[in-house]
Amino acid sequence: VDAIALGDAFARELPELGASWRAVRPEDPELLALNEPLARELGLDPIRLRGERGVRLLLGNELPEGAAPVAQVYAGHQFGAYAPRLGDGRALLLGEIRAPDGRLVDLHLKGSGPTPFARADGFAAVGPMLREYLMGEAMHALGIPTTRALAVVATGRGVRRDDSFDALPGAVLVRTAGSHLRVGTFQYARSTGNLALLRRLSDHAIARHFPDLAERADAHLGLLSAVVEAQARLVASWMLVGFVHGVMNTDNTTISGETIDYGPCAFLDAYDPAAVFSSIDHAGRYAYGSQPGIALWNLTRLAESLLPLLPPPSTAAGASGSAQTADPESAHSESAQAAALDALSGFGPAYDAAWSSGMRAKLGIAAVPVERFPDAALVELSAAMLGELQMHRIDYTRFFRVLADAARGRDDELFALYPDGRRPGAWLSQWTGLSPDARAMEEVNPVVIPRNHLVDAALDAATEGDLSLFEELLDAVTRPYVLQAGRERYALPAPAGSRPHVTYC
Ligand code: AMP
Ligand code: MG
Ligand code: MG
Repeated sequence: VDAIALGDAFARELPELGASWRAVRPEDPELLALNEPLARELGLDPIRLRGERGVRLLLGNELPEGAAPVAQVYAGHQFGAYAPRLGDGRALLLGEIRAPDGRLVDLHLKGSGPTPFARADGFAAVGPMLREYLMGEAMHALGIPTTRALAVVATGRGVRRDDSFDALPGAVLVRTAGSHLRVGTFQYARSTGNLALLRRLSDHAIARHFPDLAERADAHLGLLSAVVEAQARLVASWMLVGFVHGVMNTDNTTISGETIDYGPCAFLDAYDPAAVFSSIDHAGRYAYGSQPGIALWNLTRLAESLLPLLPPPSTAAGASGSAQTADPESAHSESAQAAALDALSGFGPAYDAAWSSGMRAKLGIAAVPVERFPDAALVELSAAMLGELQMHRIDYTRFFRVLADAARGRDDELFALYPDGRRPGAWLSQWTGLSPDARAMEEVNPVVIPRNHLVDAALDAATEGDLSLFEELLDAVTRPYVLQAGRERYALPAPAGSRPHVTYC
C-alpha cells in the first residue's frame, strides 16, 4: 500500500477545475467488495488492500505523500436544461495511478461526504454503489468501455433516501476511470470565458486520451473528432447489447468514450425502442432508441464549447468563402463552426460502421463478404427482425441465443418465443441462406446479463447484510457467454406477471 503513488496531474494542471478536499473518515468501515482482478491490473496488492491501512487508503483517509484530492467542478445539461455549476457533490478525485501497462487511471470516490458542490447529503447507500460495481463489471466483461469499481466499503453510517422509510446503510464506491473528463467539464471551462483554461483543459485531454493528436496544427479539432468517434462506438455497443444508460446528461458523457455513472441504468428485457427504466425520466428523453441521437446532441454541446479553439479560416477544413469577410472575428467564428459541423458529421458514419459490424457478429455472418450481403441488406433484414421482437415483446438477449440454436437447425425454441400461430418472417430464411456460424454467435451474444429482477434481489439482500446473491450474480455476469450448471435462472427473463422495472438513483 505504501508503494502506491497517486499522481496529481489534474489538480496541478487544472486548479480552476477542482476544489482541494478531503474524504470523511468513517469510524467503522467494512470492505464489502474488492475487485481483485482490477487491483492486480493496476499493480495493487489485494491482500494489502484488505488490511486496515489498505481500507483507509481506499477511503481516501490515508494518502500517500504528494496526493492532492480534489472535488472536480463541471457544468452540464441535465435532461436538456443547463446547470452552470454541478461538480462532484459527493465525490472526490484522489489522484492518478500509473498501471504497470503504462495506462494512467483515475482513482475516484463516490459517497465520501459533502463537498462545496453538494446538492444533497454527500453520501451514498450500499445498494446503488454495489449496483454500479455490478453493472460496470458486466459491461467490462461484455467488452464495452467503462469506468470500473475497485471496491465498495460500507461506512457504518445510515443514509436517508426518499424511496425508503428506514435509514439505509451507507457506502463509498472506489471507482477507476480512464479519466473523469466530461463534456460538462468543457462546458464549465468555456463558461468561465477563460480561453487559456479551455486550451489547457483540451491539451490535458489530448495528452491523456489522444496523444497522437498533440503534434497536429488542428489538434483541438482532432480532439472533437476523436471524442465524436469514441462516443459513436460506445453508444453503438450499448445499442447492440440492449443497454439503457438512463441519464445521458452532458456531465455523464466522457471524453474517453467510457460508460460512466451507473444510476438508473438497465438492460432491455423485451426489445422496445421506447424502453425507459429510470424513475426520473418522465418524458422518455433517454429511452433506449433515443440514445444515438442524444449522444450526438451531447457532442454538439462539446463542439460549441470548443469553438474558440477551432481553426481560423486558413486551416479550417470545409471553410466557406467567409475568409474575405471584413470582420476577422466573425470570419473565424464562421470557419470554426464549419469545422465543428464537419467533425460532428462524422458521428453518423462512425456509429453505422460500429453498429453494422457488431450486428454482423451477433448474426454470425461476420465472415460473409460485404459484397454478398451489403450494409443496406443488413439494415433491412435487421429492421424486419427487430420489428418482430418489438411487436411480440420478445426478450432481446435470449432471442440471439436461440437464434444461434436455429443456425444449427434447431428452431423450436426460436419459434416458442413467438405467440401462437406466428412465425418469423422472410428474414429468417434469407439469414439461414448466409450459413451463419452458431459458435461465433455464442461468443458475442451473452447468455447472462444483469437482469433487473436479479439485480434488485441481490441488492435488497446486500442492503440487509447478505452479500451471497451479489457475489453469485457478479460471478455470473463477469462470464457472460457461458451458462454454468445450476444457474439456468440467470438466463431467463423475469417471471411473467412481474411488475415493470423501475430504477431509482
Ligand atoms: P448524477 O445524477 O449522479 O450524475 O449527479 C448529478 C449531480 O448531483 C452531481 O453534481 C452530483 O455530485 C450531485 N449529487 C448527486 N447525489 C448527491 C448527494 N447524495 N449528495 C451531494 N451531491 C449529490
Ligand atoms: Mg454524474
Ligand atoms: Mg449518479
